[in-house]
Amino acid sequence: MEKHIPESKLISADEALKTVLQGVKPLPAQQVPLVEAFGRVLAEPVVAKEDIPPFANSAMDGYAVRAEDVASASRDHPVHLRVIGSSAAGYVPSTAVVSGTAVRVMTGAPLPRGSDAVVRFENTDEPEQGGDRTPDEVAIYAPAKLWDNVRQAGEDVKKGQVVLEAGTVVRAGEIGLLAATGHTTVLVHRKPRVAILSTGDELLPPGSALEPGKIRDANGYSLYVLVEKYGGVPVPLGIARDTEEDLRAKLHEGLERGVDLFLTSAGVSKGDYDVVKGVLDSEGQISFWMVRMKPGQPLAFGHVQGVPLLGLPGNPVSSIVSFEEFGRPMLLKMQGHTYLRKPTVRGVTAEAFKNSGRRNHVRVRVVKKEGCYVVRRAGPQGSGILLTLSRANGLMIIPEGVYRVEVGEMVDVQMLDWPEIVESGVMDVQKAQEST
Ligand code: AMP
Ligand code: MG
Repeated sequence: MEKHIPESKLISADEALKTVLQGVKPLPAQQVPLVEAFGRVLAEPVVAKEDIPPFANSAMDGYAVRAEDVASASRDHPVHLRVIGSSAAGYVPSTAVVSGTAVRVMTGAPLPRGSDAVVRFENTDEPEQGGDRTPDEVAIYAPAKLWDNVRQAGEDVKKGQVVLEAGTVVRAGEIGLLAATGHTTVLVHRKPRVAILSTGDELLPPGSALEPGKIRDANGYSLYVLVEKYGGVPVPLGIARDTEEDLRAKLHEGLERGVDLFLTSAGVSKGDYDVVKGVLDSEGQISFWMVRMKPGQPLAFGHVQGVPLLGLPGNPVSSIVSFEEFGRPMLLKMQGHTYLRKPTVRGVTAEAFKNSGRRNHVRVRVVKKEGCYVVRRAGPQGSGILLTLSRANGLMIIPEGVYRVEVGEMVDVQMLDWPEIVESGVMDVQKAQEST
């Protein structure tokens, strides 16, 4: 079949990001049990089904009183009240407080009828009495104002109130709020199912015997965990050989398995992109670009029968960095996130860096020293050297057009691991300090 293969375009990382993000949209919403919503994005506002707290209750361990009874109380002139009962959290007190009486209450206990304030144990003779049983009488040492130490019904949240807006990322606090307001399920955006496909005749899986001319498939594994890390469901499709038939078969398998996104690695650089290009042209619309960035460069993006496809470079570090740069924000957008940037710190360089003028993601080690983030190279920067990536905790960004970064300059570092690894200094702090 005769195919027209256009030259790949040279574009900036910003242009590439804009285009890939335009090519995906938030996935439809689904109702899920509370704990499954963790880390996901609300697809509709959440309205409280109940008041929090549902009833007026004591904010302290103390005595429920009538404020006017104890208005004159002091240590020298205590007010003595008859204790007519006690009340714990979870039970409605049967006794009502009348003038001259008090009910001993625990934190969270419903406020007894008739009372309008709580005097904490510390302002009574409770400590002197030992506090192990309900006394017949209590001496009050301090006055209480109306509703002192009382949490009113609906004080935190009123029934019917919008407690969470659509677009909120659900963390532990939000899960608690949902539970506290009577929800058992919640509407969130669906997790993207992401097909992961390594391509290349040279690839063998880690488990098999190594053969002459062959290497291990690293990308299929690192991309799998990155997809999970950023909230997707990985659908591994294994390895496609550099033939049109094999690639086509794997893509069809992905389509049959209902994936929302294809992630492929390799086969997009000049040497072998004819095969990939041929298949992708007949299955959908794909553009091939040379992105002006390091590591990275070759990148493909488009749709296969309507399903977006991101074609990452084959070199293992390029593949991971390109995924962080383009795949991660796509995945986040599909899940309804609107904040898509990587967490970044401003650090100070402990050594100089040369650059080709392309946007560069330098594998660095960031160490916190006297409140400053100190940045140094994690090792050799070849785009296949995973060992350096494994020794790095950040990617220092050298912007396009910058040829040199001096010692002591302030730089942006996208954190790969954040923040425990920096604070705890497990990234070889000692070595960094010795040479600083
Ligand atoms: P390509 O983009 O196909 O030219 O591949 C670029 C380089 O990455 C070549 O050295 C490939 O052997 C290597 N490579 C491709 N795919 C993988 C993979 N899944 N794991 C490790 N290395 C790979
Ligand atoms: Mg190849």
